[in-house]
Amino acid sequence: MKERGGDGYKIYEHGTIKKSIERMVLENELSKSIELGCFHLDYQPIFNLATSNLTGVEALVRWDHPDLGRIPPDQFIEIAEETRLIICLGKWVLRQACRQARKWEEKGYYYTMAVNVSAVQLADPEFLMIVKNVLEDEGNNPSLLELELTESVLGNQAEILGVVEEIRKLGVKIALDDFGTGYSSFSYINELPIDTLKIDRSFIHNLDAKVQNGAIVEAILSIANTIELNVVAEGIERQEQLTILKKLGCQEGQGYFYSKPIEAEECEKYMKINRQS
Ligand code: C2E
Ligand code: CA
Ligand code: CA
Ligand code: CA
Repeated sequence: MKERGGDGYKIYEHGTIKKSIERMVLENELSKSIELGCFHLDYQPIFNLATSNLTGVEALVRWDHPDLGRIPPDQFIEIAEETRLIICLGKWVLRQACRQARKWEEKGYYYTMAVNVSAVQLADPEFLMIVKNVLEDEGNNPSLLELELTESVLGNQAEILGVVEEIRKLGVKIALDDFGTGYSSFSYINELPIDTLKIDRSFIHNLDAKVQNGAIVEAILSIANTIELNVVAEGIERQEQLTILKKLGCQEGQGYFYSKPIEAEECEKYMKINRQS
């Protein structure tokens, strides 16, 4: 395709047009689906590695498109962030997760509910108010809510730091997600007031094969223990990984070895088992 440019014609590659059309369609569909509520949350159980007891769950959003079927978050979160639709979607996710957590609280199931929060949401001036309102409306115990942030939330903005501090004053916990994947992971531990570190699954992946991967996990755990942070290992898939993590003193973990993300009712089975044991 040709477009009249300043000094002639600009040639677009066919693929570029196709991609931008696909993207426009996706954006449009995303915005319609948010209005219609075509999403649901799955929950991935998180366990204490030493005791195998359930300690909490992580809420993960799923898009149930009426024609395309289920679309995984990796295929739409980025677009939702770029278009700021994540603010509306994220608000829905938070409310939904808190509502579920409250239902469990009412049944005597006191587990941490971890909710992913995008940098775009955190930078929204209304975010603190949204968190406050949701907790109040749904009647949750704030200390059972944990917001998972990634390093991308912090540039150098003191404002963001202030918001995180205010959220923490509500009693809500803060986790640093995908830990170890960013440029300056370790410096963020000092800057951000956090409760939990989630070691990115790329470090867990080769835990049995590569000595240097083990060394990184060991270093993370040693720092975390010194400053009394809770550590969750992500993406545990095999027994060997679990064995090494336990040996290194990692407290908690999640991954396919234990359970994939599942529906709330299925999650509740783990809570029942916990109660009986
Ligand atoms: P994340 O926060 O790092 O979430 C963990 C992801 O790892 C989930 O993918 C989960 O299904 C997957 N996972 C868990 N255990 C294993 C394992 O043993 N092996 C492997 N290979 N994968 C495992 P999911 O649900 O597809 O979510 C992908 C990402 O999308 C999340 O990564 C998070 O960054 C984002 N996301 C999901 N839900 C939300 C949300 O409600 N809000 C925001 N802002 N982002 C979300
Ligand atoms: Ca997460
Ligand atoms: Ca993660
Ligand atoms: Ca991630």
